[in-house]
Amino acid sequence: MVKINCQVTNCSHNKSSICYANCVDIVGSSAKKNDDTCCGSFLNKIHYSELTNNTLRLGACDCLKCTVETCAFNNNHLCTLDNIQVNGENVEYHTQTDCDSFKFSR
Ligand code: SF4
Ligand code: SF4
Repeated sequence: MVKINCQVTNCSHNKSSICYANCVDIVGSSAKKNDDTCCGSFLNKIHYSELTNNTLRLGACDCLKCTVETCAFNNNHLCTLDNIQVNGENVEYHTQTDCDSFKFSR
């Protein structure tokens, strides 16, 4: 099963809406809603296009770390979901991405 589905198609790690990074860091320490989270591993294809070719050989990303402690699915900086959805349109900076699987817990 694919672990990270992602609509940020201008990220160097994205192919066919699946993430192929070696490891992904979702961040947003005191998040209360999806918009407060983001993917810290985003790399803009305009600047990092060659990295895509390297990472694709390793297969889809199955390494997901997350520092969003206010999310119901966070356990010791790991995500307990089988898969997550990352989104973002016209993204230039990593802060413009979101983890849309976020659920506020406290
Ligand atoms: S934005 Fe994050 S989750 Fe999406 S493809 Fe890039 S590194 Fe992977
Ligand atoms: S669902 Fe929650 S714990 Fe999992 S990556 Fe997203 S914000 Fe982090």
